[in-house]
Amino acid sequence: MRKIFAVSAAAALTACALTSTPTHAAAFATVGTGWRITSQLGVTSVSPSKTYTITFATEAMRKRYTPLLAPAVTQINAVGVHLKIGGVEAVNPAKCGPAYHVQITEMYRPMGKAGFSQGMPCPNPPKGVGIGGIVAYDSEYWTGYPIKAYTLRNTLVHEPLHALGLDHPNQRDATGTEIPRGCVATSYGNIPIMCSPNGGYQTITSMGHLTGFDTAGLKALLTNAKAQGIR
Ligand SMILES: [Zn+2]
Repeated sequence: MRKIFAVSAAAALTACALTSTPTHAAAFATVGTGWRITSQLGVTSVSPSKTYTITFATEAMRKRYTPLLAPAVTQINAVGVHLKIGGVEAVNPAKCGPAYHVQITEMYRPMGKAGFSQGMPCPNPPKGVGIGGIVAYDSEYWTGYPIKAYTLRNTLVHEPLHALGLDHPNQRDATGTEIPRGCVATSYGNIPIMCSPNGGYQTITSMGHLTGFDTAGLKALLTNAKAQGIR
C-alpha cells in the first residue's frame, strides 16, 4: 500500500516536470514570503466558489480528526476558501477521489520514513484550479510513536493544506534541496505551518492554526483564480 502510493506520487511529479509549462497568459504568483504554491503539480489556484470537502476512510478517523482539524477549517473559510468537514467514503491512496474532495486516510509510514505523513493535490487539474487531493497520516502516531502534541496537531493541518495546493516554502540549498525548517519566521520565531519539517505554532492555544504566512498562500491561490477570470 505504502509503495503504491509512493510510486504514484513520484510518477505524478515526473509527469508534471514535463508538462508544467505555463499556458495561461494571466500573470500570477506561485511563491511569496513564507508561502509557495504547488505549481510543479500543475496547481496554481483554488476555486473561489466551489466547496471543498474533507472526507475520511473510516468512521474512527472521522471522529479522531474532525475536532483536531476544526480550528484550521474555520481559518481557511475566513480567508475565503470554502472547506467543510464531511463524512466517510472509500479512499484509495493511489488514486484521486471525487472532485473537490480532500480524502484522508492512515498508512504506516506513507513516506517510508518514521513519523512522516504525506499530502498532495490531485495533479494537473483543469486550468490549474485545485480539485482537492489525498492525505495519508502516519498511523504510528496513535501506536506510541513519540511526537510532541503541537507537532502532531500541526502535521494534521499541514497535510490537507498540501492537498489544497500549498507547498513547502522552505529555502533551498545549491542542489535544490529544501533546507530543514529554513523558512521566514515571525518576530516571535514562529515559522509557517507549511514549513518542513514541523512548522507551525508551538503553544497549546495556537497549535494546529495557520500562521499569517499560510493564510497569505491561500489568498494567493484565490487571487490567481480571479486573475484567470475563474469565479
Ligand atoms: Zn509537507
